[in-house]
Amino acid sequence: MTACGNLQHVRELIEKACARSGRSPAEVILLGASKTVPPERIKEFYECGLKTFGENRVQEFTTKYEALRRLDIDWHFIGRLQTNKVKYLMGKVSLIHSVDRKSLADEIEKRAQRAGLIQRVLLEVNVGGEETKGGVAPGELPELFSYVKGLPSLKVEGLMTIPPYREDPEEVRPFFSELRELKRRLEEEFGTTLKHLSMGMSHDFEVAIEEGATIVRVGTLLFGERA
Ligand SMILES: *Cc1c(COP(=O)(O)O)cnc(C)c1O
Repeated sequence: MTACGNLQHVRELIEKACARSGRSPAEVILLGASKTVPPERIKEFYECGLKTFGENRVQEFTTKYEALRRLDIDWHFIGRLQTNKVKYLMGKVSLIHSVDRKSLADEIEKRAQRAGLIQRVLLEVNVGGEETKGGVAPGELPELFSYVKGLPSLKVEGLMTIPPYREDPEEVRPFFSELRELKRRLEEEFGTTLKHLSMGMSHDFEVAIEEGATIVRVGTLLFGERA
C-alpha cells in the first residue's frame, strides 16, 4: 500500500476504536514510530498529513532531524535514553516519553536550563515488571513523579508504557488499564491533572485507545516490517 493508504487505514482504525469507547479521535495523537525508516519515507508520510514522529536512538534521530529540517515535524523521543545523550535532544524534541529515573531527570533539567527551555516529559512505567525493559516500577512511581514535578525546567505531562507482548491484544488490556489507574492516582494524590497516556503499538493500539490512550505509537502498521 501507499503511504497515504496506510495512514488512512490506521486513522480509520483509530476512529473506530474511539467510536466504540465514546471518545473523540481529536483526543488521540498518532505518532509514527519511525526507527529504521529512512528520511525520504518519513517525508512521504508527512506529505500525507502525519506530523508527529518518534525516534528511539539519539544518533539516528539526529541524522533524520538534520535531513528533514525544512519540514514542520513534531519530533518525540520514545527510546531508552542515556544521560550523556540528552544534550543532543534539546530544542529538537517536543516530548521525551522515557524518563524513568532521577539521574536522567536531573540531566534533562540541567540541559534544558542551559538552553533556556521547558522540556515536556512523560514518565515511563514498567507495568509488566520485565527486566529487559526500561521504566520505573509502579511502586516507585509516586516518588519519581514528586521529584520530577519539583524540577523547574521539566513539565511532566503523563505516563508512557511498553507492556509485555501478548499474541492476543485483549491480554494486554489489564496493563493499559493499570497505567490509566496509576495516572488517576497520581492526579488524586498530587491534586493535579496529567494530559497524556502514551500507550499502544501496531498490534494493540485499538485496545489502548479503548483504555484511554492519548498518544499511540505505531510503527509496523504504517511503515511496514522493519528490516
Ligand atoms: C518500535 C516502537 C513502537 C512501534 O512498534 P510497532 O510494533 O512497530 O508498531 C512503539 N513504541 C516504541 C517505544 C517503540 O520502540
